[in-house]
Amino acid sequence: MSAKPVSILLVDDDEDDFILTRDLIQEIPEASFQLTWRADFDSALEEIKQNRHDLYLFDYRLGAKTGLDLLHEAFVAGCVAPIILLTGQGDREIDLKAMEKGAADFLIKGQINSQILERSIRYSLERYKAKEELHKMAQYDELTGLPNRNLFHDRIKSAVDHASRQSSLLGLLFLDLDKFKPINDTYGHGAGDAILKGVSARLSKSIRENDLAARLGGDEFVVILPEVDSSKSVIAVAGRIVENMKPPILFDGMELRVTTSVGVAMYPFDGADVESLVKNADIAMYRAKDEGGSRYVFFSQDTDVREGNLRENIRGLHRAQDRDEFFLEYQPIYIIGSRKPVGLEALLRWNRKDVEQVMLPGSFLPVLEETGLIISVGEWIMSEACRELRRLNMLGVKDLRMAVNFSARQLRQPGVIDMLARISAEQGIEPSMIQIEITEDSLMHHFQENIEIFHRLQEIGMTLSLDDFGTGHSSLSSLKYFPIKRLKIDRSFVSNIGLEKPDEAICKAIISLAHNLLMQVTAEGIETESQFRFLAEAGCDEGQGRLLSPPVGSNSLEKIFTVG
Ligand code: C2E
Ligand code: MG
Ligand code: MG
Repeated sequence: MSAKPVSILLVDDDEDDFILTRDLIQEIPEASFQLTWRADFDSALEEIKQNRHDLYLFDYRLGAKTGLDLLHEAFVAGCVAPIILLTGQGDREIDLKAMEKGAADFLIKGQINSQILERSIRYSLERYKAKEELHKMAQYDELTGLPNRNLFHDRIKSAVDHASRQSSLLGLLFLDLDKFKPINDTYGHGAGDAILKGVSARLSKSIRENDLAARLGGDEFVVILPEVDSSKSVIAVAGRIVENMKPPILFDGMELRVTTSVGVAMYPFDGADVESLVKNADIAMYRAKDEGGSRYVFFSQDTDVREGNLRENIRGLHRAQDRDEFFLEYQPIYIIGSRKPVGLEALLRWNRKDVEQVMLPGSFLPVLEETGLIISVGEWIMSEACRELRRLNMLGVKDLRMAVNFSARQLRQPGVIDMLARISAEQGIEPSMIQIEITEDSLMHHFQENIEIFHRLQEIGMTLSLDDFGTGHSSLSSLKYFPIKRLKIDRSFVSNIGLEKPDEAICKAIISLAHNLLMQVTAEGIETESQFRFLAEAGCDEGQGRLLSPPVGSNSLEKIFTVG
């Protein structure tokens, strides 16, 4: 086996069995195993969460619980290393269940000797390695190491879902190298490979950590830019890529020159779904080639159309403010245990008079953000929400929390915290009754700055909740730096309860994560009784969703709080 000892965690509540297993392992010739022992379920789970062992041996009997329970918890906690289950006697049913739950092997204690144990460990580790390798092969391009078409498709799909949920913008770049074929034909595959590798390295250097560059095949590449704040930042990246490709690539003493043509499509302007975005980025790429290559072209080259739509929207949004076309709806938030409403979430609506339609924030928030209009609208939202809360307080509804959504970018505007403090004071609202919701995703950008702002928010007495939790890229360990009171489980997980086991596991994991960090949990988008029951059983604190109440106008709130 490899030079580094294989680290094994044994979980067994019987010390004699531990000694027996330890002795068996010591008898294995020429192997280097490092055995750690945990006797009880909870400390074992803590150890597993550290993710530092290469393999696990679980005894079936663990006090009141079983090794199968531990197996389940280990997977929920994200354990991917192989787990071997040990039992006192052979039991076909447990054996089958163990395999079904993902155990790597199942051994009967009375029947093992050091050879059998060694073989089982070795096989489990090998299978695990092979699985990892396959997984990697299926998702990465062998030559360049970049994500391949499969991984790209997964990512672009979730990026578009995410952008539509967050009402944010997304950029998709489609790249094709200029004159790759003649070089490949003239100088051979070695030269072609060198170019593809060189291009990949430059591409990776031109983008940020959260962006994704993938090789689709041949000399075609794509880049996903999730969460861009305006078309300007997409232009910046596209320009950088074109420039970075210009210097020659050295191969066998030769200077090979390729440049690249880049087509750009942006969500939502150039396509509302994956297919149309990819198609339009591809069309734009051909236009870039037509214009001589080594350049980028936006799909709506007819920028007039794109910017025109935008300008129309912007003009509409400017007017909206003057003409009082904005209003708020409120969605009640309920305690799951008692089904009592305890809070409201303020949601922005635009009653667009020129088209006689009420618009949801997904369609216009990006424009509000991009134009900076969100700052004054945000101030209005805050005072309107406080006014509503005060009205309800006066009607006798006490201890009601108001949740207001802010983007992290909004919160980073100078003076915003003072504005929040001032407005709540003006309206006579206790700051602790205001909860600011920000999406998980915006947390990780401007990390340091966000930490400071959130602590100031805490200083003025308001609390913070992390919205759409589970969909973003926050690293769990960084959560502890933020004074977060509450996690909101994204509705995409809730809607899959009863349909997708992994999503159920994620809901449970978020609930236990929150509770371990002394936070509260709210589930979003509860639509059915069975989702509600599942969440109740999983110990979720609060919930909102159409089952309980859709977002409603101010005049429907009194009924909900059954004012006495
Ligand atoms: P969010 O904060 O996650 O808000 C919850 C969204 O889920 C709302 O969509 C709500 O109408 C919807 N919803 C509620 N119950 C259900 C349900 O049972 N099933 C389903 N499928 N959906 C449900 P809405 O109003 O379209 O808002 C979308 C997003 O826009 C919000 O997501 C929030 O991130 C943002 N947003 C809304 N109002 C504001 C605001 O005043 N300021 C800022 N910065 N963002 C806002
Ligand atoms: Mg929210
Ligand atoms: Mg949400």
